[in-house]
Amino acid sequence: MGHDVALIGPDEPTDFARHDGMFGSHFDEGRITRSLDSHPFWSTVNRASIARYGEISAQSGVDFYREVGALHIGPNNDADILATGKTAAELDIPCEAYDADQLGERFPYLRIAAGTKGYFEPRNAGYISPRRLVRAQTVAAERGGAQIVNTIALGISESATGVTIRTGEGDIEAARVLVAAGGHTEFLLGQSLGFTVYARTVALFRLGTTEMQRLSGMPSMRCFGPKGETPYILPPVLYPDGQTWLKLGGDPVDIRLESGADIQNWFRSGGSDSVADELQRQILDRIPALAFEERRVAPCMTTFTRSGLPCIGPLSARVTVASGGCGAAAKCSDELGRLGGLAMLGEVRQELAP
Ligand SMILES: Cc1cc2nc3c(=O)[nH]c(=O)nc-3n(C[C@H](O)[C@H](O)[C@H](O)COP(=O)(O)OP(=O)(O)OC[C@H]3O[C@@H](n4cnc5c(N)ncnc54)[C@H](O)[C@@H]3O)c2cc1C
Repeated sequence: MGHDVALIGPDEPTDFARHDGMFGSHFDEGRITRSLDSHPFWSTVNRASIARYGEISAQSGVDFYREVGALHIGPNNDADILATGKTAAELDIPCEAYDADQLGERFPYLRIAAGTKGYFEPRNAGYISPRRLVRAQTVAAERGGAQIVNTIALGISESATGVTIRTGEGDIEAARVLVAAGGHTEFLLGQSLGFTVYARTVALFRLGTTEMQRLSGMPSMRCFGPKGETPYILPPVLYPDGQTWLKLGGDPVDIRLESGADIQNWFRSGGSDSVADELQRQILDRIPALAFEERRVAPCMTTFTRSGLPCIGPLSARVTVASGGCGAAAKCSDELGRLGGLAMLGEVRQELAP
């Protein structure tokens, strides 16, 4: 749009246990992507972003998306499952509806309880590597003329004529700033926006060749359990260690992170073994014969807003915020970022404004 842009942010930490800087929610290889969401806002931004995956990949030369489909599954009278079917019909999102017997045939490795219903999105759904998507977006931005500044913003001060961003490498002067620092956003701004940052744990299961073959073709899964549990499952994904891991998340507990120090301590701790034990119980309940060779536990965080929608809008004349992904903002980060850019230029969506 003709503006000079600088992207300021540090690289991903290489050793969580020793890192004393910033952490983020996207340091991983698997995030579910899907067009379907029972809230129209999320469905709209998901679809807008998915439609641009090919363009971002072509512009950057970085591949980050696997269209393996997404399966939404749960008891046929569950409110979320009913809403999923209703939204698919209303928004005309192609979806295959299956009852318990059909699910058992279509996905033979799953244990399907009687009365289960499943909606399968075969297209425009699957998983992305959020880490590689960020890389792709960064390369595309740089090729488009953005300056990449690999450092931490220590503070932001605003005057009548501009904004000064203080960094360890000196001050950066700008006309306007968009603050999109994930769980660190409120602590960087020194201002509450009503966010709640939660500690999250994921369990990863390393698979051997036989299991990889047996589960090949597995989709991403969003599960709604009869007791209110909502685990999500990533299909076997190749990680940078050369191994293939199946990942499960969906914490049964909510631990709040109330400061930058809390975030650091949480990530340095490596996550919760007891949450991982519960996740392991849930994966074996759903894929009973899963034979894994190793389990790993990893920490993460999610940032929730009061509205359940991301917070994107101005805090002052020159400072705009785009944060509060509500655990759902990897797949649609491209459209949320675009809305952040527009908000900085004065085009604000009131339902997202802080
Ligand atoms: C376990 C887990 C599973 C998830 N699963 C899914 C999923 O299946 N699908 C989905 O769509 N979403 C999923 N999410 C949510 C998604 O990952 C987040 O919503 C998304 O990463 C939020 O993006 P963000 O840019 O707001 O924050 P982040 O991804 O945290 O990025 C913030 C960036 O800001 C940087 N930063 C912080 N402080 C500063 C500073 N002072 N100066 C400069 N830079 C700074 C950080 O280094 C980081 O790079 C999941 C999240 C978790 C934790």
